[in-house]
Amino acid sequence: MEERGKIYLVATPIGNLSDMSPRAVETLREADLIAAEDTRNTIKLLNHFEIKTHMTSYHEYNRTEKAYELVRRAEQGETIAVVTDAGMPAISDPGEVLVRFALDAGIEVTIVPGPCAAVSALAVSGQPTGRFVFEAFLPQDKKERKVRLEALRDETRTMILYEAPHRLARTLAELAEVLGRERQLSLVRELTKKHEEVQWGSFSHFLQRYADEAGRAEIRGEYVLVIAGKSEAELRAEEAEAFADLTPAEHVAWYESQGFDRKEAMKKAAKDRGISRRELYHMLL
Ligand code: SAM
Repeated sequence: MEERGKIYLVATPIGNLSDMSPRAVETLREADLIAAEDTRNTIKLLNHFEIKTHMTSYHEYNRTEKAYELVRRAEQGETIAVVTDAGMPAISDPGEVLVRFALDAGIEVTIVPGPCAAVSALAVSGQPTGRFVFEAFLPQDKKERKVRLEALRDETRTMILYEAPHRLARTLAELAEVLGRERQLSLVRELTKKHEEVQWGSFSHFLQRYADEAGRAEIRGEYVLVIAGKSEAELRAEEAEAFADLTPAEHVAWYESQGFDRKEAMKKAAKDRGISRRELYHMLL
């Protein structure tokens, strides 16, 4: 029986070509085929490292049909390396569907790790790194965007978002509406490139800075937004305020409407009000 091939996800530099790992070069050289997001872009990388492997394009718009084709080729024994324009394949880039199809078909998928803008930005951001969420790009559709923004309102983990420079000012304004103008964030720009920079401040600070034409003209290059989560203390204070207007019975009923059973609802309401369950029970009587 023919031996099965393998799929390699190969991370490539996000700016500085020296970040290309020797193993990434070797994997691309030895693969039977390179599936690249944009072959015109990747050819520059291949030329730089004198890699002569044949390329095929694998992008957002052919990701499903092409994933089937690539899996079939791997089943026939080919080794396929997947690269994107920059950074880690499958992270806000093509690759995710291919990985799923390959695993379904029993094809081995392995990684040649390397740069990823999200994690690199988090590390230099100065924001808490212990717990974080990656939100990629906010949706462009108005309704979906609103839903996603709302979902971030009470997020206590550090949030990482990608954004294109021409949309940055608008995105900052919309995030500030939901998270509050005093929330701290870091704008991490042009990582590993000549104009690499970490700017740190509140939404208010950045909104003032980019309020006019001249300010917006300053926004150039590739950005990652790293936003501090809501503090637990702030979240608890807001909840206490929201519950202050409720009677004990309304408070318990609210938790029941959220799907908690009576016992759990009482436990939560008592905790919110800083009283014991027994005290709450007596108030309800
Ligand atoms: N797969 C890539 C990765 O692992 O980082 C991300 C691809 S995503 C389509 C492109 C976005 O990543 C950009 O819009 C920007 O937000 C961010 N990005 C990519 N390179 C960057 C860099 N050198 N500095 C800052 N952000 C960067």
